[in-house]
Order: sequence, then C-alpha cells, then structure tokens
Amino acid sequence: MRHFPIFMDLQGRRVLVLGQGEVAERKATPLRAAGAEVVMADAFAPALLDGCVLAVGADAPEAELRALFAAATAAGIPVNTVDRPELCSFITPAIVDREPLLIAVSSGGAAPVLARLVRAQIEALLPPTLGRVAAVVDSLKARMRAALPDIPRRRRVLEALLTGPAAELVHAGQEDAARDAMNAAIDAAGNQAPPGIVHLVGGGPGAADLVTLRAQRLLGEADVIVHDRLVSGDVLDLARRDAERIFVGKERANHCLPQSGINELLVRLGREGKRVVRLKGGDPFVFGRGGEEAEALAAAGVAYTIVPGVTAALACAAQAGISLTHREAARTLTFVTGHTKDGELDLDFAHLAAGGGTIAVYMGIVSLPQLAEGLLAHGLAATTPAVLIERGGTPRQRELRGTLPTLVRDAPAWSDGGPTLVIIGAVVGRATLLREPAAVDRERAAGDRGSRVGAQEDRERADLLGR
Ligand code: SAH
Repeated sequence: MRHFPIFMDLQGRRVLVLGQGEVAERKATPLRAAGAEVVMADAFAPALLDGCVLAVGADAPEAELRALFAAATAAGIPVNTVDRPELCSFITPAIVDREPLLIAVSSGGAAPVLARLVRAQIEALLPPTLGRVAAVVDSLKARMRAALPDIPRRRRVLEALLTGPAAELVHAGQEDAARDAMNAAIDAAGNQAPPGIVHLVGGGPGAADLVTLRAQRLLGEADVIVHDRLVSGDVLDLARRDAERIFVGKERANHCLPQSGINELLVRLGREGKRVVRLKGGDPFVFGRGGEEAEALAAAGVAYTIVPGVTAALACAAQAGISLTHREAARTLTFVTGHTKDGELDLDFAHLAAGGGTIAVYMGIVSLPQLAEGLLAHGLAATTPAVLIERGGTPRQRELRGTLPTLVRDAPAWSDGGPTLVIIGAVVGRATLLREPAAVDRERAAGDRGSRVGAQEDRERADLLGR
C-alpha cells in the first residue's frame, strides 16, 4: 500500500489554499463542506501556515508552490499540490458521497482514470438515498442496544434494516413509515430466539473471483468462518473483517480437528444462533466431506444450506484449455480419489480403463504409481495423454504433461507440494492452453522440489483421514 487512507475531521480547523483562481476554488469547496475554515492567499508567506492542519497548493506560481511545500513539510503539516505528485505529502481520492457514508477511491496517483471508472461504478451501485437510510437507522441506535444486547444478533437486525423492506420505504421517500417498520422489526427481533444457520460453501480453487456471488454474499454476512488449509487467503479476504475465523485443518505435524470434531463445532455454532460459513476448497460435495457435515447438521436439527463451488477438476481443465468431454474424445467424465486405504487403491480399474472417457483423479499424486499400474494392467494404452496440474485455477497453476509412465517418472522432481490433480484421457492431448514443457523444465531447474512430495503426501492423507 503506497498511501494510507484516513478520513480527517476538519470541523473548525484552518486550511490554507494557495491560489485564487478556479482551481483553488474547486479545492476550497469540499474543504468548506467538511467544515474547514479555508484561508485563501495568492502569495505564500510562512506565517500563513500558522494554525493550519492542512495546506493545498493550487494555481500559484512555481516558486510559491515550492516554498509552500517546503515550509509545510518542515512544519509537519500535510500538503497537497494540484497535479504535482512530487509536491504532495497527501493525495485526495475520488469520492462517492452518501453522507454519512463516504467512499473514497484512489489509485495512489498511478491510474486516476481507473479510479474514476471505479467511482462511477460504485455511484451506480448505491441508491442515492442510502445515506438517508443510514441516518434513520442511526437514530434508532439506542433503542436497538436496549432491545438487542447480543452483538451478533444486533448486527444481523441492523443488516436487515439497512437492506430490507424498511430501507425501501426510505428510498421511496416514506421515512416515517420506514421508522415505524424498523421499530417493529427491532421489537420482534428482541422477542425471538435468533435462528442460527450453517452454510457449507464451496470456496473454489483459490482465486477470489472464482467463488459464486452467493458465496461472496454469505462470507460478507457470516459471524463465524470455519475453514481449512485448502481455502486460499484471497477467498478468506472476502469475509467480514471482524468475523471470527476458526481454522480446523492444520498443516501436517500440527494437530488437526478430526471430522467428528468439525461436525460438533458446526452444530454448536448453529445452536448458538450464529451465521456460520463452513468454507471448503472447491465444491463441498466433491471429495470434501460436506456430506458428513450436512448429515450431522440435519440430525441435530440445525438449518443449513449448500453453496456449490468450482471443483478442482473444472478449474484445472478450464485454465489448461482441456475440454473435459470434448465430443470427439470423451463421452464420460469420472471423478475418482487416489486416496489409499491400508496402502491399497480401491478403484474399479477395469471399468475406468475400458470406458474411454476422461478420468480426473483427486488426491492422486502420492498413489500415482499404483494408479498407473492398475490402469495399464487393465488395458489402458500406455500412450494415453495425461497431465498433472498443480494449484489449478490460480495464477500459480503449473502443469506437467505426458503419459502415465512419464508422469510417474517425473512427478517426484516436479511436484512443488501444492494441491495437484491428475487428468487422464484423449482430451488432454487436445488441450489448447497447456504450457510448453520448456516452461515447466525451467521451473524444475529453478529448484529441487522432490523432497516436498512427502509433505504433500502427509497433507493429502490428512485430508481424508485426519478430518
Ligand atoms: N472439494 C475439493 C477437493 C478436496 S480433496 C474440490 O472440489 O476441488 C483435495 C484434492 O483436491 C487435492 O489433493 C487435489 O487433488 C485436488 N485439488 C484441490 N484444489 C486443487 C487445485 N487448486 N489444483 C489442483 N488440484 C486441487
């Protein structure tokens, strides 16, 4: 972050604006609107800065602007000079004004056009009367505190007031009716036990813009986020800042909460009346153990919903340009797990090998040799194209393409320890976007990553066994 954003209280504070023309006036107007006592001068003298908390250089001669900047900087007074970034210790953002809500947008001077575009988008998004809604809700604050002492519950009611039917009354110009409706809603909420709810949410492959709009909304509303290590930081950043975050899937070596513990945790939080997002990598119902959590919630009578996510196979295939069911190359698509039980891969190899379709293997890198052996022994051609895709659907996606025998040979040195999917089938050979092997070789030359495969193995095991 190049600049630190703040909102400054200028009520009754003195601000110097150097210049008296149109530009100076344009700068002075919002300062006055913020309650500042604006002193305008067309020539700089150090005494003008006395008692000032800010200074602005507008349409004055060069030497004057420089003198202002030097003097203000020396006196510790923030100074802004119009269109002269080198003579600024602060910059002013583009603003969207919905008093008391104020939104400031800045590109740090790097892309003012982009900042203006974003500002226009936000303008269009927010009803002009949003500020009125905030003001009406604010006037009910004391009543709300008394009726709803529990903070998460109060927050929920607040959100309903700000976005619900009562807010629509404000937009329609009926503030008295809105106030009545809000008072009624507060009283009703105060008399009811708050219903908790758990959302089992697919967080997708890791890129924040690959989560659904519903997932994004629920993350913004949740009181508690329960997540594990497959969920990326970018996706977690979509959650409300003050939401409680509970991490239940630790790295290897550390302890991780067993699945039964996670189920109990979700039930308990739901019963406490919390809005819970159980955030999972990919899709909750694809090798994600979401089914067990749903069963536990159902059995406990806690309300829940499932929000699908982009599962790894789809994210990997999309970014690599693999059409998973290309009509000339595959009629079926099978998701299998490469997780082993007592060292054994429990898969119907004959069926998989004979199907002629696409096979996407989750948690498959550790047991890749067994998988290859089983498929080849049951008749899959050794020349069938296959690919390993690591961290698919993120900017760090890497691919290693080949055939099962070459992947078995090359995987240990290639793997970087990130989540990796195996895709097998003729469709891989038609892929349009796979990166050149040369790029992969270069990455391999950049470091010996073979030792990390063990870590990956432990983590994948933890995925299925630990939780
Ligand atoms: N519910 C998840 C899968 C969890 S099982 C989903 O729908 O995607 C964990 C396995 O998923 C990992 O071992 C790996 O094989 C695969 N995986 C998850 N995220 C991945 C990613 N970004 N790239 C490649 N594979 C991934």
